[in-house]
Amino acid sequence: MTVTEQEKASIKENIELLLSQVQENKTAENVTVMLATKTVSTEKIAYAVNECGINAIGENKVQELLEKYEQIKDLPCQIHFIGTLQTNKVKYIVGKVSLIHSVDSDSLLKEINKRAEKLGIIQDILIEVNSGREENKGGVMPENTEAFLEKALQYDNIRVKGIMTMAPKCENKSDYHNYFSQIYKLFIDICKKTLDNVNSPILSMGMSDSYVQALQNGSTMIRVGSAVFGKRNYNNN
Ligand SMILES: *Cc1c(COP(=O)(O)O)cnc(C)c1O
Repeated sequence: MTVTEQEKASIKENIELLLSQVQENKTAENVTVMLATKTVSTEKIAYAVNECGINAIGENKVQELLEKYEQIKDLPCQIHFIGTLQTNKVKYIVGKVSLIHSVDSDSLLKEINKRAEKLGIIQDILIEVNSGREENKGGVMPENTEAFLEKALQYDNIRVKGIMTMAPKCENKSDYHNYFSQIYKLFIDICKKTLDNVNSPILSMGMSDSYVQALQNGSTMIRVGSAVFGKRNYNNN
């Protein structure tokens, strides 16, 4: 699939705006802009990486990641996995992604460790925290995060780099502050207690709708899709 000049111009303009808003709103010293690339063609992804200074992308479906992998694996960017992960699919992604954002169960920890051990690598992960305590969402409950983290630290082939959260969708954007400030507190607490030996711990929070508020509350990594690539069309990618 080719990318039209018009599409390129739009991607570039959106990224430039995004990067300037990151500079304006960030409170963490260093912020990584990770582009969420579900339904986005590999040609557009390559353009964003090669021509617009993006150095991290994330896919949220194992199947889609595998379909795109040959085309994206040599790009000068990190590839992350950001979606809900089933234990039986872990084997397909360990070794292919530099960071898994969405770890929230013992069975995932066990399986990731097993696969990483087999490959002789250490897999970096984030613990997903359910900031809105939503039943239909993944993530450990905030109050259980520390205990879960302690468990994760016992696996030799896993390195916990920090936490990730997806806030509930807020009609009123200022409501995001509520969720993000709580997760930031949790993050700081965890960094002191259990991640004190991790270099540059990661707080992955903020999407197209909420990255400004996330940055204002200490996010070190935002995951942005539609604000750069436009509204997703799931039927026509
Ligand atoms: C799609 C996705 C995003 C980005 O969503 P946008 O609203 O398009 O910015 C962020 N995080 C995860 C886990 C996603 O699946």
